[in-house]
Order: sequence, then C-alpha cells, then structure tokens
Amino acid sequence: MTHLVFPAPAPTTLAVAGCTAVFPVGRVYCIGRNYRWSLDEAAPQEMPAWFMKPANAVVPAEGLLPYPPGTSDFCHEIELVVAIRHGGRNIDPADVEPHHIWAYAAGLDLTRRDLQQQAKRSGGPWEPAKAFDHSAPCSPLVPASVCGHPHQGAVWLTVNGIDRQRADLSDLLWPVPELVAMLSRSVTLMPGDLIYTGTPAGVGPLQPGDVVCGGIAGIAQFTMTVGSTAAPHHYNATSTPL
Ligand code: MN
Repeated sequence: MTHLVFPAPAPTTLAVAGCTAVFPVGRVYCIGRNYRWSLDEAAPQEMPAWFMKPANAVVPAEGLLPYPPGTSDFCHEIELVVAIRHGGRNIDPADVEPHHIWAYAAGLDLTRRDLQQQAKRSGGPWEPAKAFDHSAPCSPLVPASVCGHPHQGAVWLTVNGIDRQRADLSDLLWPVPELVAMLSRSVTLMPGDLIYTGTPAGVGPLQPGDVVCGGIAGIAQFTMTVGSTAAPHHYNATSTPL
C-alpha cells in the first residue's frame, strides 16, 4: 500500500452545462496564432506553435479575475476551448469530432504580455508569461451531444461594454480537427485534456476594475471583473491556488 506524504490535492474540475457531474481537467494545451490578425496576412504554411498551462490555472470564468503579480501588461485572449474525452496518438483528423472531443467552452488565455515580449527577445521560456495562477478561466463545458461541433459562430470579448475582439469560428486558420491531430502527433492526448484553440485579433490590456465579457455563439458567455494589483492578503501556500 502506498502512503502519500500529504493528501493529494483534489483534481481541478469544470462544471458541465445542464449536468451535475463535473469534468476532471488533465493537461491544458494552448495553440498560438490561429486567426489572421491583419487582412493582408498570408495564409500560414506551418502548423501553429503550442504551449501549456498547469491544470490548476483553469478556474471558472465568473466573479473576480485576480490581477497577477509581476506584470504591467495583463492581456485578454478569448478562445474556443475543446475538451477531450478519448485520447490517443497520431489521431486521424476525421476521427477527432466523432470520437475524441466531448465538449466545448469559451475560455481566456490570459497573458502577461510584457513577460512574453521579454521571452521572445531573449529566447526564454513562455511559462512566466502564460502559466500563472488563474490564467485559464473557462466557462462551463457544453457537451457536443448538446451543441454539436461548432464550425461557425461569433467569438467575442468586450471590456466595459466596448468591443475588443470579434471574429468567427470559420476564421480559424487551422480547424479544430487539424489542431487535435497535430498535438496527437507530438504527445499522447489523454481524457481530460483541454485545448485552447487560439485567439483572434484585438488582444489588449486589462486594468483593475474592468468588466470583461466574452463568449462563443451557441456555446457560452461569461462576465468577470478584474481585481486589484495588490497581492491577496490571505494566501495559503499549502493549498491549491483557486
Ligand atoms: Mn492564446
């Protein structure tokens, strides 16, 4: 019998729309540029880059959005999120929707942009820019059995009621089946993995007090309020950051 030196933290979970069961979050994969950011941008020849966030960066997209430490350029990126039910390697794109994807959601790939620019300049890792606490808010998951597999529909984000990002899922440069197949050629995808599929143009900074609304038509929408830049008073380092 194996004894843990301390109790294992509870898994990170996401609510499922219309259902009391919750979805256990595995790994979080994020896709880089996957929409044209300017009209004259050429179609890419290569698959986009990907990076990861820890599972416990995923938090419900509601209520307070803490302003993270170590940045003065905290940026929003609205993204379609894909939830994997059946994993695998070298997945055929044709099998992705019928077999591997269980649900969809609207999420934020929050970014400390100043640290990302610094990492790009120095060739350093992106984790300080991307993989921080609370950096991957996500709406409740909507099973594909309810919403189907969305190929079009608005992807949008407003700050204090003003449009910042507005595009359409049909604008994705690499469609979801291609993204999942690409990842599965590089890693073995597992049940519970989430994939943030990239953000359209219009990313920009958030300030304390901003009200952020975002959504994907036919899937979900959410509202969060950005917290202050002051560190939380009662952070307990022995528990999982929430
Ligand atoms: Mn992103």
